[in-house]
Amino acid sequence: MWRAAVRALRGAGTGAGAPRAASGAAAAQLRRRLESELEEIRGAGTWKSERVIASRQGPHLRLAGGGAGACGGEEGSRCLPPVPCPCFSLSVPAGIINFCANNYLGLSSHPEVIRAAVEALEKFGAGLSSVRFICGTQSIHKDLEEKIARFHQREDAILYASCFDANAGIFEALLTPEDAVLSDELNHASIIDGIRLCKANKYRYKHMDMQDLEAKLKEAQKHRLRLVATDGAFSMDGDIAPLREICQLAHKYDALVFIDECHATGFLGPNGRGTDELLGVMDKVTIINSTLGKALGGAAGGYTTGPKPLIDLLRQRSRPYLFSNSLPPAVVGCASKALDLLMESNAIAQSMAAKTQRFRSKMTAAGFTISGKDHPICPVMLGDARLASVMAEDMLNRGIYVIGFSYPVVPKGKARIRVQISAVHSDEDIDRCVQAFTEVGRKHGALP
Ligand code: PLP
Repeated sequence: MWRAAVRALRGAGTGAGAPRAASGAAAAQLRRRLESELEEIRGAGTWKSERVIASRQGPHLRLAGGGAGACGGEEGSRCLPPVPCPCFSLSVPAGIINFCANNYLGLSSHPEVIRAAVEALEKFGAGLSSVRFICGTQSIHKDLEEKIARFHQREDAILYASCFDANAGIFEALLTPEDAVLSDELNHASIIDGIRLCKANKYRYKHMDMQDLEAKLKEAQKHRLRLVATDGAFSMDGDIAPLREICQLAHKYDALVFIDECHATGFLGPNGRGTDELLGVMDKVTIINSTLGKALGGAAGGYTTGPKPLIDLLRQRSRPYLFSNSLPPAVVGCASKALDLLMESNAIAQSMAAKTQRFRSKMTAAGFTISGKDHPICPVMLGDARLASVMAEDMLNRGIYVIGFSYPVVPKGKARIRVQISAVHSDEDIDRCVQAFTEVGRKHGALP
């Protein structure tokens, strides 16, 4: 893989259409520097390679190129024999069972979601060739914003190209040097970057540590406004922020609460509204940022929802909103249909919760430690980085696609394999995953 990257950088090939390598001393120096940086990443064992999927996103995947776990009958592939596919995708000759997408509700390939995208594409075109405030707002953008606000029971909402953008835009637009932001140390990178961009006073509290948050809130009393910022659910551990306690402290110290609901929207809480619904604090959280790129159809896009004057201000001041293209109609169509499906019924979310429960209880009974509680992110804690990596590889040999995480993505000594459950996994998929974990765990000494 890395050889291919270096070859690409060197500009392999000389024929028509072959990449041209820039000449000159500066370009040569840059190339040397980049190659040495890439070598460092490889040396540190943190190189991320990407498997290429040749089918739709879904519980069953086909990988391109006959690599490990690929199917399609290619010689040398290590696929499982085809099994009936209960997912919404077209007939994928079930190669591997996928346990590492954020497709929590399985809506990425839901036929109605796809149909809505095609209809929006045909009616509203491929894209707007414009930012929103010039000539890039269509009726579907306004409809989706209204629907998002209704879903979260908030006053208004604003769309972004991604939740990364929503997080990059909000803090700078809202907070000044007179204000303070208090952020959980394990917040998502996009929150960290968004906070870096703003000029507010910054406080970082220990992960979900309410004593530390209280101490920081006391310290921050001198500022005009205090904003506590936290992920609703943390993606590496599958743990859920103690929002009730955070809201109590926020009330006590006159602070606002912001939550990033990327790993909660659509499925946490009795009606899938998210962490605030799950923990009974919907009226206490002021601002929600979330994504359309995970449970809500999985295409792309993000948003902020909250008080109307805040949303109005973001439309005037938020840089990723002001200076980036409008969401493509097909993407808007997907998310809008996903929200319709969730507002009609909570059956899909409940089905995911039942699958999550099945996986967590069977894995615990088999002797594994699963971090977090009741969340479809189920980190199988292994401790040792090498063990996580060889077990994940061996799982793929058995047709189960999971990913091992180790330092620096997670703390040293806390290596794990992260499993993500989806509503469209069948009970049989879950049981096969548990069976494979048990076999692989015994083989590599993770289980007695
Ligand atoms: N916030 C959290 C907690 C996330 O996990 C992610 C995506 O990985 C993002 C924000 C960014 O979302 P998006 O993919 O819409 O940019």
